[in-house]
Order: sequence, then C-alpha cells, then structure tokens
Amino acid sequence: MDPRRLREDVERLSDDRLRGRPTPSPELDEAAAYLVQRFAELGLEPLAGAPDHRQRFECGGDAHPGPASNVLALLPGRDPAVADQLVMVSAHYDHVGERPGGEDSIYNGANDDASGVAAMLAIAELLAASPPRRSVLLVAFCGEERGLLGSTHYAAHPLLPLDRVVAQVNLEMLGRPDPDAPGLAWITGMERSELGEWLAAANVGTELRFVDAMEIGPVEGGAFERSDNYPLALQGVVAHSVSTGRLDALYHSPDDEADTLDYEGMAVLVEGIARGVHHLGEAQGQPGWIDPPE
Ligand SMILES: [Zn+2]
Repeated sequence: MDPRRLREDVERLSDDRLRGRPTPSPELDEAAAYLVQRFAELGLEPLAGAPDHRQRFECGGDAHPGPASNVLALLPGRDPAVADQLVMVSAHYDHVGERPGGEDSIYNGANDDASGVAAMLAIAELLAASPPRRSVLLVAFCGEERGLLGSTHYAAHPLLPLDRVVAQVNLEMLGRPDPDAPGLAWITGMERSELGEWLAAANVGTELRFVDAMEIGPVEGGAFERSDNYPLALQGVVAHSVSTGRLDALYHSPDDEADTLDYEGMAVLVEGIARGVHHLGEAQGQPGWIDPPE
C-alpha cells in the first residue's frame, strides 16, 4: 500500500477549507461528494437503496437541523452462494467543526476520523484487487460527533439486512501509532466477542498485534460505547472499533492536522486490518459474541 494515497485522502478531508466537517454543513456534503468520487474510482457499486451512494436524512438531530448523508458502497463477493453475506467496514467522516477561541478555530479531525475513512478506502482498494467470497459493505457515517447519529440511523434503517452482516470493523484514529509499539492496534470491547481472534488469525507471522483497548488505558478501554460500532452491536451485529496510539493531546484539538500523522506506520496497520477483513470475507463461519451488549 502506498502511504501517499492515505495522506492524500486525509489531507483532502481535513483541509481547512472543509471547516472541520460539522453535521450538517455544505462542507460535510463536499466531503461526501469526494467519497462518492473515490468509490467510483475504485469501481465500487452503489446499493439499490442508495443509487447515488447517499443515505440522506436529518443526521444532526433536532439540535442541528438539516440533511446530511451516510455514504455507502458495495464490493460484491465473488461467490454467489455467500455473496449476500456482508463484512461491514466503516468510519465516520464528520468532525466537530469550528469552535471560537484560539488562533486556529478549525478542528480538522485528521486522525479523528479522516484517518479511518482513508483506511476504509485503502482496504476497499486492496480487496477490490482480490474480492473475497462474501461481499464487503463500506460505510462512511455522518453525525458521529453529534452522538453516533449516522450509525444509529443506519442501524434503524439498514439498506441491507443486518442479520447478513458477519461483522462490522469500525475504523477510528489509525494515524498516530505508538512509536514504541509499531504494529499495535487496539479493539474496543475486544473481550466481548471473537472478532479480535479472527483479525489476529489473519495476521499470524506479521508484526501486527491486536489488544483490548483496556490495555492502553481506561479512557480507551471505555470507548466501546462511544463510536459507530455500538448502535450496530446493540442490534446483534458483532461490531467493534479498531484504533491505534492513544487518545492524546491532539484529540478534539484544532491541532489534529494532516501533517501530524505517521502514514508509513498507518499503512502497516491498514494492511493488517485488510488481511483481517479479507479473512472474514473468505472463511466459513463467523465470529460470535461472548458478552453481547444490552
Ligand atoms: Zn472518532
């Protein structure tokens, strides 16, 4: 994988011109248009229920009225017998917008979560070159920073049946790996299901390691309920977020900018997660819950 491609996507989404991508906003819509263009470049298909790749609704909730979109695409599986089964790969493309205060009022959200979106696109590109048997559903959510509103809407109005989703791999903040622990990714709520074992099994013999978020720290350990995996998990989908590094000083800061990311380190992680997604798409069976949320 070319780290420059990751950098291009992160730079584009976190550019000051998009003013921190609040939900809803013309700038978030511009980011959505960029994702549609990228999906088309990768040869991915729209879903029947969203022919323009957009699921449009009031994604900012009552407090922030106006339409915005989840942006979706499908990589069809190569085996007709199981192509109706889905591995879901997701990330949120919104961020918190602008906040008055210091010299720089724009919260760029380069790591949170332009990095996850860039990773999702890179995984789609890798898998499109060699599609697994099952299909892969790619979703960029709006409204995460308003309270998981895009994923909550999708969980209530799925465009493909949720009982066909074998797992959701939600990507959050993959751009700043710990320099002392390259190849270390953490999974929120990992002990709750078998997903971590599945991702690890696809990476035997590589430098990648997956640990429970609790091993990083208490804040990370409490993140299972704080990202776009959670609304799907509540519907029974084995759904977790994968991240790296720490929730550092740049978290929700105007300094979370594209030039603070380590694209070489990120590429190693993204390749490993792609191997995990391919394994989920290729294998018989699927990961189960050990301790599902209620
Ligand atoms: Zn996030």
